[in-house]
Amino acid sequence: MRRPFIAGNWKMNLNRREAATLAGSIARRAGELAHLDLAVCPPSVYLETVGAALSGGPVGLGAQNMYHEAAGAFTGEISAAMLVDLGCRYVILGHSERRHILGETDEQVNRKVLAALAAGLTPIACVGELLEEREAGQTGEVIRRQFDRSLAGLPDEQMRRVVIAYEPVWAIGTGKVATPQQAQEVHLDLRKLISARYNQGLAQTVRILYGGSVKAANAAELLSQADVDGALVGGASLKADEFLAIAAGAQRN
Ligand code: PEP
Repeated sequence: MRRPFIAGNWKMNLNRREAATLAGSIARRAGELAHLDLAVCPPSVYLETVGAALSGGPVGLGAQNMYHEAAGAFTGEISAAMLVDLGCRYVILGHSERRHILGETDEQVNRKVLAALAAGLTPIACVGELLEEREAGQTGEVIRRQFDRSLAGLPDEQMRRVVIAYEPVWAIGTGKVATPQQAQEVHLDLRKLISARYNQGLAQTVRILYGGSVKAANAAELLSQADVDGALVGGASLKADEFLAIAAGAQRN
């Protein structure tokens, strides 16, 4: 049985006061949602402030990125240990905005995933195809390549701890959501890839989130799919009511 997981990716939004207020509003009402895991991923400069607003409650704290090296002359970067030090439990890795705007490769994502796991963080590893790749019938191939390369070299015990987010690039921030059937198809493919590389038992334990224009109005149907274990939510996670309504949709499964 996989526990539903709803994570909010705040991206490069909000100021410090707004971040604290939003985290506080979510934390105050998270108790009503005891059957799922909730997390928020603020900009890294607000991690400490948001961590304080979550104040040891059930809502997990996550970062949006990190660097794979442990320490040293890497100006502007943040290590996994630093995130742990700030109270992070999760880190989003390989988000499509990092892949496509900042040029991050599968190999870089893989190094980050391994470093995050070694530090005790749960990576939320993102995969997803571009619109032209979907239209060319290449979705399966793209997802397989990203899975193979971004999640290479993980022993069973580490793969179990990974959360995968399927985020079709054409659905992120566009208001164009994948149909529940499109999401389910890719999630099932991902589970088959895990099963082929590891085993079926392990594949059944890994949580696979859908991300891409999820909002309260479409969440319940997406989350009712057999292999959709939760959501990675961007824009709609910036409003406490909307984010909590999405989470409530997951609880109805
Ligand atoms: C995201 O940033 O991971 C995302 C899915 O964004 P949005 O929900 O805004 O499409």
